[in-house]
Amino acid sequence: MKRNLLLTPGPTQVPPQLCEVLGRPIIHHRTPQFQDNIKQVVEGLKEVFQTKNDVYILTSSGSGGMEAAVVNLLSPGDKAIAVDGGKFGERWVELCQTYKATTIVHKVQWGKAPTAAEIKSLLDANPDTKAVFITLAETSTGVTPDVKAIGAVVKETKAVLVVDAVSGLAVQEIKTDEWFCDVVVSGSHKGLMLPPGLAFVSASPKALDLINKSSAPRYYFDLRECKKAQEKADTPFTPAIGVLIALVESLNMIKKDGLQNMFARYIHLAKAVRAGCAAIGLDLYPDPACSTNVLTAVRIPANIDGEKLVKTMRDTYGITVAGGQDQLKGKVIRMAHMGALDEYDILTGLACLEKVLHQMGHKFELGAALTAAQKSLNAK
Ligand SMILES: *Cc1c(COP(=O)(O)O)cnc(C)c1O
Repeated sequence: MKRNLLLTPGPTQVPPQLCEVLGRPIIHHRTPQFQDNIKQVVEGLKEVFQTKNDVYILTSSGSGGMEAAVVNLLSPGDKAIAVDGGKFGERWVELCQTYKATTIVHKVQWGKAPTAAEIKSLLDANPDTKAVFITLAETSTGVTPDVKAIGAVVKETKAVLVVDAVSGLAVQEIKTDEWFCDVVVSGSHKGLMLPPGLAFVSASPKALDLINKSSAPRYYFDLRECKKAQEKADTPFTPAIGVLIALVESLNMIKKDGLQNMFARYIHLAKAVRAGCAAIGLDLYPDPACSTNVLTAVRIPANIDGEKLVKTMRDTYGITVAGGQDQLKGKVIRMAHMGALDEYDILTGLACLEKVLHQMGHKFELGAALTAAQKSLNAK
């Protein structure tokens, strides 16, 4: 039987303890047992989000959480600043435009991060801005901006800061309250190690004010309804019951492990993957000054077909990494270190990468990536 190792930035590996919970018979959601699960999930999520704000639970993929943020915060014609430095920043732009916001698109070169100074000058020029949309870990390029510095700038204005932390939450630091992130969006199938099904949206008092004032039509994603329901440990509609129950267990695992220990482990794995890639001539794609530890995006040598590389790793050897999107199609691979992965998983991934690159004619010393990664993993 072929293995199926997901080294992808979502969905991620689901650990066996959580598979066991997911396999249990379903229970009804309008019951005290399920309400108890909702309460535990809300409390656990607040710890992971590092917030005292409400965190609402939606049944959708991560993008549904993003859509909820846009449609609840902005009325048609409202001004928004959306940072676009990759596929997920582009999604903010598309959502804002879909809902008829007057959208200021802040284009950032792929592989680079937006700066707080850039956001400040945009806000100075547009004091009527209602919301600023950024991405914690831009999964398409491997970039993370200085969210804390951006938060300090946005806090001084009337605008709210909205952060897509779908891939970043529980993988890299995000201090929702301390960094003045008014709305933070995430999902179940990345750092929280579960299948897709749930999205989460936190909302500060400043955000709640906009949510209550917005004149945009909304129904399924109406956060006012979520708030009302959640105050009674309920959800407005049938939630992804099985995923939510498993989330109780996932949040317990995270609590036991400790958020800071988890962040440190991902840094440790990311360093090893980068050392391994560098040893076989694969350069990091993003500017190292702003690279996230959620995943490693590296350039593929010009003579190698990156799409074929990804396909062979997956279909022949059962190791799934992500390829490049849009302008990076065939030019990079993205190996994630998020979720339920350990040192041996990333060594397996690197071993497979070496094997396929070797077969495809890339010149390097076989074993060089593994040696460099092992050295990095064992350096103290
Ligand atoms: C995965 C991801 C999303 C959401 O994607 P869905 O397919 O809708 O779950 C949003 N933002 C980022 C940065 C992501 O990595």
